[in-house]
Amino acid sequence: PFSTFDAVVIGAGAAGLFCAGIAGQRGLRVLLLDHGEKVAEKVRISGGGRCNFTNRELDPRAPHKHFLSDNPHFCRSALARHTPADFIGLVQKHRIPFHEKHKGQLFGDHSSDDFIRMLLAECAAGGVTHWQPCTVGGIAANGAGYELQTSRGPVRAGSVVVATGGLSIPKIGATDFGYRVAQQFGLRVVPPRPALVPLTFDGEAWAPFAQLAGLSLPVRIATGEKKERVAFDEDLLFTHRGLSGPAVLQISSYWREGTPIRIDLAPGIDLAAELMQAKARSRRLLANELAQWVPARLAEAWVQQDAAWQRPVNEAGDKALQQLAQRLSNWELVPTGSEGWRKAEVTAGGVDTRELSSQTMESRQPGLYFVGEVVDVTGWLGGYNFQWAWASAHACAQALAPA
Ligand code: FAD
Repeated sequence: PFSTFDAVVIGAGAAGLFCAGIAGQRGLRVLLLDHGEKVAEKVRISGGGRCNFTNRELDPRAPHKHFLSDNPHFCRSALARHTPADFIGLVQKHRIPFHEKHKGQLFGDHSSDDFIRMLLAECAAGGVTHWQPCTVGGIAANGAGYELQTSRGPVRAGSVVVATGGLSIPKIGATDFGYRVAQQFGLRVVPPRPALVPLTFDGEAWAPFAQLAGLSLPVRIATGEKKERVAFDEDLLFTHRGLSGPAVLQISSYWREGTPIRIDLAPGIDLAAELMQAKARSRRLLANELAQWVPARLAEAWVQQDAAWQRPVNEAGDKALQQLAQRLSNWELVPTGSEGWRKAEVTAGGVDTRELSSQTMESRQPGLYFVGEVVDVTGWLGGYNFQWAWASAHACAQALAPA
C-alpha cells in the first residue's frame, strides 16, 4: 500500500514550497507534506504581513557578509546560483507589485498572501502532490531510498528533503523535527539559539530606563571584541523588558550570553566638544541641552543616573560633562537574556553545514537533504533569511534525481 515518489519534501514553508515547485517542474514526482493546517505561516506573518522577500544589497561576491554560520563560506555557492535578481524575476513574472524600503529590503505592496499564492502556483505547475495536515512518524533508509510512516499512510521515495525550519514561534508550528532527523542519521547539529530577538535587562541598573518604553532613536550598536567585533547603524527601541528595534535584533544574532553590548546613543556627534561649547554659552539645565542630540525623554532619564548631571550646564564640572559624553556614546550593558523562542524571528545554529554539500544541500547520508532555516545558516534582518530559503531550496531542487 505504499505511495511512491521521487522526492518527499517535509515542511511546506518558504524553502519547502519553493523546492517542491522547482523539482516538480523538472519532471520529478514530488510529495510535499506539512503537519500544519495551513502552508507558509511564517511567510504570512513576515515583514509585518508584507513579506520582506529578499534584499538587493546581498553582495554576490561576498554573500557570507550578511549571514552567520559556524562555516561562514558554506552559503556562497547556493546564494551565487540563485540571486535576489533571480527571485525578483519570478515575483515579476507573477505580477506581484513590490517596493524597496530601507537598505535594499524589498517588500510586497499588498500582502504576504501574494507570495504564498505564487509559491502554491509554482507547485501546481510542477504537479506536486500536497498532503496537509500530515505528520511523519518515522523515516527509515531502505536500500536506494527511504520509507516514511505518515498519518496518511506509508510512503516510499528516492530522496527526502527536510524543510521544517527552526524553533522560533512554536505557536505557529515550529518543531525540532529537522534536528531529530539529523541526529537519527548521525549528522551533527550546531546547538540552536534564538536570533533576531529582543534583549532583556533587569535589576536596579535597568530601573531608570524602564520608563522609556516606546522610545525609538537611531544608534550605533556593537558587540564582540577586536576581530570578532560587529556593529550596526540602526534604530533602537526601548521596551518594557529591555531593548528591541532593528539595532538590537541585528546584534542579538551575534551576542553571546554574559558578554556586553555597546551602544552609541548619539552616533556621529562629538558630544564632549558640544557639551563644552554649551557650557560656555548656556545656563540651561544639562538635560535640556542634551535634548538637542538625543530625545528629551532619554536625556531626562539619563541625567537621573548622577547628581553631577542634574544642574545647569554652566555649573557642571568639565569632568562630569566628559563622563556624561563618554557614557552616552559608549553605553556598555550586559543583557540578562533574550525574549527567547516566543519572539525570535529566526534560529541561529542548526544542521551542521560540514555534514552537507554546499552545491546540493545533500547530507553525508545519501538522498537526505536539508534546506532553509533548519541549516546552520542565519541571515541578517532585512530579507536575507528568505533569500537563503529560496537559494538553498533551489540548489537542492536542481540536484534531486528521479528514484
Ligand atoms: P518555515 O518557513 O518556518 O517552514 C517550516 C515548515 O515546516 C512550516 O510550515 C512548519 O509547519 C513545518 N513543520 C515544522 N515541523 C514539522 C513537522 N514535525 N512535520 C511536518 N511539518 C513541520 N525573513 C525574511 O527574510 N524577511 C522577513 O520579512 C521575515 N519576517 C519574519 C517575521 C517573523 C515574525 C518571523 C518569525 C520570521 C520572519 N522571517 C523573515 C524569517 C523567515 O520567516 C524564515 O527564515 C523562513 O520562513 C524560513 O523558511 P523555512 O522554509 O526554512 O522554514
